[in-house]
Amino acid sequence: MNSQRPMTAVDEDEVGAARHRVVIIGSGFGGLTAARRLAKADVDVTVIARTTHHLFQPLLYQVATGVISEGQIAPPLRVILRKQDNVRVVLGDVERIDLENHTVTSRLLERTKVTGYDSLIVAAGADQSYFGNDHFAEFAPGLKTIDDALELRGRILGAFEQAELSTDPEERERLLTFVVIGAGATGVEMAGQIAEMATTTLRGAFRNIDPTEAKVILLDAAPVVLPPYGGKLSARAAARLAKNGVDIQLGAMVVDMDYHGLVVKDPDGTHRRIESQCKVWSAGVAASPLGRQLAEQSGVELDRAGRVKVREDLTVPDHPEVFVVGDLMAVDGVPGMAQGAIQGAKYAASAIRDSLKGAPPEARKPFSYWDKGSMATIARFSAVAKIPVPGTSRSIELAGFTAWIGWLVLHLVYLVGFRNRFTTLVDWLFAFTSRSRTQLAITEQQVFARNAIGELEERNRIDEAA
Ligand SMILES: Cc1cc2nc3c(=O)[nH]c(=O)nc-3n(C[C@H](O)[C@H](O)[C@H](O)COP(=O)(O)OP(=O)(O)OC[C@H]3O[C@@H](n4cnc5c(N)ncnc54)[C@H](O)[C@@H]3O)c2cc1C
Repeated sequence: MNSQRPMTAVDEDEVGAARHRVVIIGSGFGGLTAARRLAKADVDVTVIARTTHHLFQPLLYQVATGVISEGQIAPPLRVILRKQDNVRVVLGDVERIDLENHTVTSRLLERTKVTGYDSLIVAAGADQSYFGNDHFAEFAPGLKTIDDALELRGRILGAFEQAELSTDPEERERLLTFVVIGAGATGVEMAGQIAEMATTTLRGAFRNIDPTEAKVILLDAAPVVLPPYGGKLSARAAARLAKNGVDIQLGAMVVDMDYHGLVVKDPDGTHRRIESQCKVWSAGVAASPLGRQLAEQSGVELDRAGRVKVREDLTVPDHPEVFVVGDLMAVDGVPGMAQGAIQGAKYAASAIRDSLKGAPPEARKPFSYWDKGSMATIARFSAVAKIPVPGTSRSIELAGFTAWIGWLVLHLVYLVGFRNRFTTLVDWLFAFTSRSRTQLAITEQQVFARNAIGELEERNRIDEAA
């Protein structure tokens, strides 16, 4: 890898910079880890991200259901990195990566910025996939961002509020039917928490409706909940959800959706409609479109989800200076989880450090992933965990209270910032030992902003085309 600044660089504010420039796209687990790992390296690091925060996605569902606040899981990136002198943070949406000229073009509102790099780490993650039915997004938001979580919180609590005012029994039933599509970890966690909200937090808080009568449906086209866990753990999770009143419908594929409900196709091919105002989508993942740009320019293959099939050193063909890590990379045996992003980012950062010492790309050892296992919460005091035993094909499987304690400790350890850990622990103590949740505020903007922004974008498109 060439550690000198290429002459083609066009990042004007850095012309003349002597140090090797590393650009990192994304401020998630991959981006933040890579930046931190380069703290002591003789490089200038620029992190370009479309949000000002580092988001701890595993706890988004708790923001959506009022257990914790968004600030606790989304500290500002530039504050986290303020003591790391060799890093600067640039807010912007990366629109173009130019592999030939070693530049990244990002945009913040009307400002366009072109940043040159010597090494690039692309950690742009993934978005929700609606499997070609993008119009479903309006009716069933996914859970990927703070905006999503707050919108869902508004929709969930807003449905109870509307039901309280309704005098029509059919309408009331529709408002009190919540459907979560996708029975992976996020779907299970959301369904469990909505059920718990209805039966504990909101119990007795309304005068015309009984929130405990709310129906929570968890549906999936797959035949089991939590498919990656399988066997006993999937069965335990399903049993616990059912005990908490969640209606699990498996083998059910969503084929249509509108404001008032959805149509599902059952395994026998019949179609049926479920009336439900509040729907949550947690069914699919589509890699960042930046992957396609890398594919077009380097010839690297993409998998079905648009993830980049990187080489053994996490780079793309003929570009040993361009690393792809995290949810955007496709490496056999590496799941789209935090550990995949963290370990990939550490690998990329050390490959860059080695190259500064003169190590050629051919000398890099292939990336190897250490599977530390996975866990998911089902309800208060109940979780499942699967931890592989190193060097064997066996796994330790835990379900219930022990797994739940493990889940709590692990998530606290990985949250960024002492204060966030402390306040989250306090909120958990209240939420799990009493009926109270501290974050039940909702605003009109949270619920309606998506449509308003959509309309605005549509109007801009029409204006530009005219
Ligand atoms: C609801 C939910 C729950 C989860 N629970 C767990 C769990 O319990 N355990 C677990 O291990 N994993 C969990 N995951 C998965 C885990 O969060 C991801 O695997 C991990 O975040 C991937 O890290 P990443 O850095 O690749 O991407 P992300 O963390 O998604 O970060 C991507 C970053 O890129 C930025 N970005 C994207 N496109 C652009 C662009 N064009 N320009 C500029 N910036 C851009 C984004 O703003 C973001 O900062 C969960 C994910 C979700 C959504």
